[in-house]
Amino acid sequence: MGHGWEGVVLKLMRGRDFTFTVTAAEQLTDGFRRVSVTDGGLLAATGGAHPTMWVRLWFERHGKPHQRAYTLVDPDPEAGTFSLDFALHDGPATDWARAAAPGDTIDATLQGTGFALPEPAPSRLFVIGDPASLPAINSLLAAAPGTPATIWYESAPGTDDEPPLRLDHAHHTLHRVDRHGRGGELIDAVRSTLPRLLGDDPSDAYVWIACDTATTRSLSGYVRRDLAVPKERVHALGYWRAG
Ligand SMILES: Cc1cc2nc3c(=O)[nH]c(=O)nc-3n(C[C@H](O)[C@H](O)[C@H](O)COP(=O)(O)OP(=O)(O)OC[C@H]3O[C@@H](n4cnc5c(N)ncnc54)[C@H](O)[C@@H]3O)c2cc1C
Repeated sequence: MGHGWEGVVLKLMRGRDFTFTVTAAEQLTDGFRRVSVTDGGLLAATGGAHPTMWVRLWFERHGKPHQRAYTLVDPDPEAGTFSLDFALHDGPATDWARAAAPGDTIDATLQGTGFALPEPAPSRLFVIGDPASLPAINSLLAAAPGTPATIWYESAPGTDDEPPLRLDHAHHTLHRVDRHGRGGELIDAVRSTLPRLLGDDPSDAYVWIACDTATTRSLSGYVRRDLAVPKERVHALGYWRAG
């Protein structure tokens, strides 16, 4: 395992508010829009960033506030900058990202983000996600250079042909899974491949799951109960709710 896991000790606070200012916006791929910001002092206040670090952003629609979580991409503590990669669909957050232009501002609250270091460091990673967790997946893989990882990545067919995953093909194996309707294919794909890959002793593995809430719940129960992966070797967090 590389040094990334140990890399950062955060002076994390809860409930601190910041205002980000947009410096650039670009269409990364058909399915993703990247908005780059200055951080309003966030990274100086936290003392850095940890893998998968996220903030709550406040969007407005029809005069009402909507709070949504987004992941820091390429945080630069010295410059006080990072980007946010928006997986595009319908919703207040997506609407804001589509229209974002330099000079726009967005309010953010830092609350409850954290990253528990798996101890001992895992020698194998199993990562299950989708466009919403793609930025977190990239930061997780970057924190563990050289560690073999198997990634199951779910996306709706035709929306996301070239997802901006940052893979090291020498160590990372990608399984693409098409999502139809309310999903289910991802669960089948993981159930049919993970047991064999995990083998008899899962204690050196780390399983990271971040999909829609129902899929995440189903897979985390399966991995903990049926595959007997110790709970401290499994991280599971639902990233979005299917409508
Ligand atoms: C810790 C954390 C970090 C996250 N980081 C990111 C990130 O970096 N980038 C990112 O794009 N998302 C990220 N998400 C997910 C994001 O917060 C949700 O997708 C959020 O619901 C988007 O808000 P919205 O206003 O666009 O849509 P909403 O108003 O929440 O939903 C509108 C409609 O879109 C559907 N929908 C919502 N999200 C998705 C989706 N991801 N895919 C397909 N349909 C969807 C809903 O079911 C609903 O029908 C993160 C979530 C968490 C918990």
